[in-house]
Amino acid sequence: MKLNRRGFFQVMAAGTATALASQPAQASDQAQASNPNSIGMLVDTTECIGCRKCEFACDMANNLTGQPVKAFEDMKVYDRERRMSENAFTVVNRYANPEDSNRPIYVKSQCMHCLKPGCTSACLVGALRVGDNGAVVYDAWKCLGCRYCMVACPFQVPMYEYDDPLTPRVRKCEFCHTRLEEGKLPACAEMCPPMALTFGSREELLKLAHKKIESNPDRYIDHVYGEKEVGGTSWLYLASREFEKTGFLKLGEGAVPSLTEPIQHAIFKLGLPPLALYGLLGAMMWTYRNGDEYIDPGESEETDPSA
Ligand code: SF4
Ligand code: SF4
Ligand code: SF4
Repeated sequence: MKLNRRGFFQVMAAGTATALASQPAQASDQAQASNPNSIGMLVDTTECIGCRKCEFACDMANNLTGQPVKAFEDMKVYDRERRMSENAFTVVNRYANPEDSNRPIYVKSQCMHCLKPGCTSACLVGALRVGDNGAVVYDAWKCLGCRYCMVACPFQVPMYEYDDPLTPRVRKCEFCHTRLEEGKLPACAEMCPPMALTFGSREELLKLAHKKIESNPDRYIDHVYGEKEVGGTSWLYLASREFEKTGFLKLGEGAVPSLTEPIQHAIFKLGLPPLALYGLLGAMMWTYRNGDEYIDPGESEETDPSA
């Protein structure tokens, strides 16, 4: 039997309706969605030249692999689509550009810093939380290692240090929050040569994005990715062709917490074991990512090995 999202929640509803009846609503993520202090980053993929300097800057700023800049000059990495890892909080991928084969499309990815994040809503102990400025940050000392956040993230961002037997952590971009506290720019934005990354207030960046689209309708499609997807994200994207053709997930406007929190609350109310939550979150996210609003980037458009 194919379980679609609606079907899944109908099944869930039967088992959890009683438990949910008296569950108080959690308002923190709602409040965050309209936070006027939210920072953001506007990524103009039409400006990105694929130089990978942002990857190098991120590596340095977060003490990841410590590889020299030369290691990031290897353009062979574009032969296959890459994903973020515990040692790479941001990666750039290359996609074909049907408008101009000499100018492929490069797309940088990292944590999207959702306004209503699935990861924070799934974290039982608040190890992942939304900061005052909207950055989604992590306190390793609170983390239980349950990895519910990995299951609940619609973008499949958080990675786990499986190779570290003693103090494994969840790893992801934290918007360079310590640099921001020191009054510096996020390392990737500071390093980007063509200034494809613009850091600022999310509100202002949205205005800028729409202004750019309005002034250059031939250059941009009329869509700011992240303005509405999953309830809005702090990282916003401009592009010259449909996002689902260049590795972006086609996701709806509904925020993940509105899906995960009722399940989580019901589980605790019913006293079910943690494994049940893991299974239910996994099933829920599976249907969320595989519903009719989702297009697997691997199926939608190949990376551009020839470029
Ligand atoms: S992209 Fe994933 S890890 Fe990042 S804030 Fe959103 S839910 Fe959390
Ligand atoms: S904001 Fe900082 S941690 Fe996030 S991708 Fe940029 S450099 Fe890396
Ligand atoms: S540094 Fe800027 S231009 Fe270079 S790959 Fe990163 S986002 Fe693109």
